[in-house]
Parts: sequence; C-alpha cells; structure tokens
Amino acid sequence: MLKKFKQAALQSLKTSGVSTLVHNSRWRRQRLLILAYHGVSLSDEHLWNGSQFISPNTLRSRLELIKQSNCTVLPLGEAVERLYINDLPDRAVAITFDDGTSDFGRRAWPLLQEFELPATLYLTTFYSEYQRPVFDLMCSYLLWKGRDAVLDLKQLTGQDLRTELTDNDVREHALSQIHAFARERKLSAEEKDQLAASLAAHLGVDYDALIAERVMYNLTAGEVAQLAHEGADIQLHTHRHRTPKDRALFLREIEDNRHSIEGMTGRPTSHFCYPTGRYDPMFLPWLTEAAVVSATTCEAGFASRSSHRLLLPRFLDSESLSSIEFESWLTGVSMALPRRRVGESASAGSMA
Ligand SMILES: [Zn+2]
Repeated sequence: MLKKFKQAALQSLKTSGVSTLVHNSRWRRQRLLILAYHGVSLSDEHLWNGSQFISPNTLRSRLELIKQSNCTVLPLGEAVERLYINDLPDRAVAITFDDGTSDFGRRAWPLLQEFELPATLYLTTFYSEYQRPVFDLMCSYLLWKGRDAVLDLKQLTGQDLRTELTDNDVREHALSQIHAFARERKLSAEEKDQLAASLAAHLGVDYDALIAERVMYNLTAGEVAQLAHEGADIQLHTHRHRTPKDRALFLREIEDNRHSIEGMTGRPTSHFCYPTGRYDPMFLPWLTEAAVVSATTCEAGFASRSSHRLLLPRFLDSESLSSIEFESWLTGVSMALPRRRVGESASAGSMA
C-alpha cells in the first residue's frame, strides 16, 4: 500500500515539475549519489534474491535512466575528492558493485562499457583465490532452487530439522542451521564445499551444471587483472568478507585484501566498503591507520560535505524497485518521502 502511495506521489512530483526543480537544485549539486549493486543474474538469481542480484535487463534500464537524466557519473575516487572541495558537477553519481561474483565480468562490466560509465568493484578476495562457489551464497541459492523438495538436515549435518522449503522464513532458518553447523565444526573451505555439494544432491539440484556456469563463484585473479586493465576500479571489501572487532584481525583483513587485489591489478587501493554494511565507530581509526581514504555503508542517502568520509551512505538498488523510485534517487526527490532502511540481506553475510 505504501509502495503504491509512494509511486503515485513520485509520479505527481514528476508531472508537476518538482522533480526537475530538485534535480537541478543547489541542494542536489552539493550531493553525491553512490549507487550500490552486488550481482547481475547469469540466469534466475534475481528471482531468488532481488537485493543481492538484479537482472541484466534491469541494470540496462537503470543505466539508460542515468544517461537520460543527464547525471554525471564520476569514478568513485574523483567523486569523493570533489565532494569535499565543493566541486561536484551537476547531478553527480558514482556506481559501485560489491563482492565480485563472476557475473560482474560477464554481465555488469559489458553493460557499463556499452554505456561508457566508470564503476568501482569492492572485491572480497578469499573466493577469488579459492575457486569454488561462495559457500553462504550457494547454500542460500540451493535451498531456493530446491524449494519443492523436503530438507532433512539429519542426513546432512545430523541436526534435527526436517522441513518443506516453500516458505522463505523456513529457508532462512534452515540456512542459519547450516551456518551454525559449519561454524561449530570449524569446517574448512573444502569441507564447506563438500557440504554444499551434498545439499544440492539431497535437494535434487544439478550442482555440476551450476559449477560449469560458475554460479556463485568469484572472479578469478586473471579476470580481475583484465577488468582493471579495461578500466574497472578494484577496491577493498576485506579478504574474508568480515570485520572483526579486534584491531589486529581487522587490519589483517584489509592487508590480506589489499595484498591480493594489488597483486592482481598492480594498482593501489584506498577505498573501502563495509561487508554486509555493518560498521562500528571502533573501525574508523583502524581504517585511517590502513590509509583508507573513503568507506561506504549501506545506509540509504546522499553523501554531502558533512558526511564522514569513512561513513559515506549509498543507495542499494534492487530488482523490486520501480523505475520511478530509481529516478527519484537520481533527482533527489526520494529524500522528501518516507524510506525504509535498506541493508544487505542476511544471506549476503560472511562469505568465507
Ligand atoms: Zn559484500
């Protein structure tokens, strides 16, 4: 109901010309919209999780809207620099992708190149080095792919859970049980991979076909190198997709991530994105210590000069967002309407 009301309100603001006024306003000129994406579907991933994956068609329509709206898309580093010296161009936008699943190279990057738009990829590197599916993502996807089957965890993990999987909440619960099992048993990456394969077999999902398509894989080091060579900006997202609340461990995550990325691209890294959008004030001095010059969250909003440069808000686009809502973010009209807080989904949690 709220969504319908919101869309009608946005439509009337557009028709009355208010959207254009805001779009061209001084308020908008002093603000940077940082867009956030994760994956772009190889097949049906956006139907499984529309905030984690969008379809190629949706991404194409977004890029068309950005072009039509006369927004200026800047490379992230330049955008942040110009934000703080009050030198943003009109309707400034930066485009970011998180994680680095293999579809970035096959789906997102060709579209970005077609539209000649710069983008930053915040790459988590563990699964770029270990070329098997990202365990958390794959388990969540398998539970959805096998949603017509009956899951009996007794046969897989020994846990006492037998359930149908048609309901999303039930699937989330089953996923949390599988995570708990992997955590408590301290399963290695290889053991987790075995467990994902067993889960697929148990649910009757063709795992070999997913492996062959590299579904839920991260980009290889060679692919990252090629993307960087073609102009993609590859930046920090931690090595294991986590932010320990311990200085040494936190710094190690950045260091391992940086070492891995710079080894692939030969380029320096100084921009960071909080995995799963989770941040804590204790991280800020550690990021400064690690020579990180900007960090982005998943808090929905526009970055302005008063934003902390290590807590820059972003707008997380999703498959379910209508074109008029997306446009309202480009113009800035969105800030006049009630919003839900948007964050990464639970299934986008720890990736290692
Ligand atoms: Zn992430």
